[in-house]
Amino acid sequence: MEVDEEYLKLLDRIYESKKKIEKGRFNPPGVRVETTSQKTFIYLNDFANYIKRPINHIFRFLLHEFLTSGSIEKERIMLTGRFQPKQVQEKLQLYLQKYVYCKVCSSPDTEMIKEDKIYMIKCLACGASYPAEEIR
Ligand SMILES: [Zn+2]
Repeated sequence: MEVDEEYLKLLDRIYESKKKIEKGRFNPPGVRVETTSQKTFIYLNDFANYIKRPINHIFRFLLHEFLTSGSIEKERIMLTGRFQPKQVQEKLQLYLQKYVYCKVCSSPDTEMIKEDKIYMIKCLACGASYPAEEIR
């Protein structure tokens, strides 16, 4: 079968513009939260992949916010203490505000890159670049 080059190019263009439209709709997946009497497990993988941030960074942010300790497991993180799913979602929203949405233009189309031990946030929409707030 002969492949029509023009047709393939057209498909490419449709695919590209579809991707752009999808990029415009920033809608991170919710996370599954499970609790026991003394621990909270959060399944962060899909969320972290979607917002393109390292699990380790989100993990450290949550430890800091909940003033607790924890560990990273294979497909989830564990926090010591029992936290409600609603509290976790709120903290993740806060994370998005601090580390995903651009401070200048509010676009979620940003990257976080580690440079000399500090994380820089770079906005792909407006070109802004600034250091991410440190997690102490
Ligand atoms: Zn921006």
